[in-house]
Amino acid sequence: MSHHCHAVVVCCIDFRFQKYIRKWTDENLKDQTFDLVGYAGSAKDLDTILSQIDISVRLHQISQVVLIHHEECGAYGAESSLEKHTADLLKAKSAILSRYPHLDISLYYLKLSGEFTPVQ
Ligand SMILES: [Zn+2]
Repeated sequence: MSHHCHAVVVCCIDFRFQKYIRKWTDENLKDQTFDLVGYAGSAKDLDTILSQIDISVRLHQISQVVLIHHEECGAYGAESSLEKHTADLLKAKSAILSRYPHLDISLYYLKLSGEFTPVQ
């Protein structure tokens, strides 16, 4: 039995942001299926997140990865700055691409206001 899905979305557990993430996936992954990974700090613990992406690739043949970090992240504490999140998101992107060059990877920094800022 195989069941494919389009994407995996990785985000922090922080409850304050879930409504914004739901709204974003409703709008941006409309009519598409996706796996959802919630982990404190999102891709901060890169090995853990890579193990989850491995499973999405292997079981569901995903083609897209969406990594969402957010403002004022408790898992980062005083280190939670846009610069630090940007650096970690870019590091995660290159680690994922080195394993799975075919994947399309989107990075976002989500503000307390609900605004999604693309990270490049
Ligand atoms: Zn967080």
